[in-house]
Amino acid sequence: MTDDELTDKGKAVQLLFTQLDASIASFQKNTTLHCQLGCGKCCFKPDIEATVLEFLPWALYLYRQHQAEEWLEKLNQSDSSVCLILNPTQEGAGLCSQYSYRGLICRLFGYAARTNKYGKKELVTCTIIKDEQKNAFKNAHEQIALGLPVPVMHEYYLQLASIDFDLAREFFPINIALRKAIEKVLSYYAYR
Ligand code: SF4
Repeated sequence: MTDDELTDKGKAVQLLFTQLDASIASFQKNTTLHCQLGCGKCCFKPDIEATVLEFLPWALYLYRQHQAEEWLEKLNQSDSSVCLILNPTQEGAGLCSQYSYRGLICRLFGYAARTNKYGKKELVTCTIIKDEQKNAFKNAHEQIALGLPVPVMHEYYLQLASIDFDLAREFFPINIALRKAIEKVLSYYAYR
């Protein structure tokens, strides 16, 4: 037990992310599916939905870096529906400016499955991967049907909710989820 409950929850979320990242890396290795270098197209989608809890580790990190108020100001002044963490001019593998603190939805999208009404797992991925990696995508589907392990979206959201049900039960447009995560951290330490 650390000295505060919120930090413990943040660490539990990060542990869940570490486990998920390992499952995704194994799935990518088995299927060869991969993001285009420098892409970030999925991040431009307006109003990506996210929970407050999945951005708690990020908000705690900002607090420790004395950047929480600055980001809260940015979020409060912005009316953009596109994620404010996205940096369209960023060089390198992707456009996320806080990649190690990206949310659960950011990690799942592209390399996780949802379960359809027949109980079958369906890979949820982007059109670029579907179009440019046609064979690998088709093979991945076949391998999943034959039992290849693939992260299942709702199972990860259930695990997230088991860390803190109240902070994980509601989905918000991503910039609102980011703002609420920072507000949660600032108010927690304001009253401590
Ligand atoms: S947090 Fe990062 S990965 Fe997630 S939507 Fe925003 S820019 Fe994209």
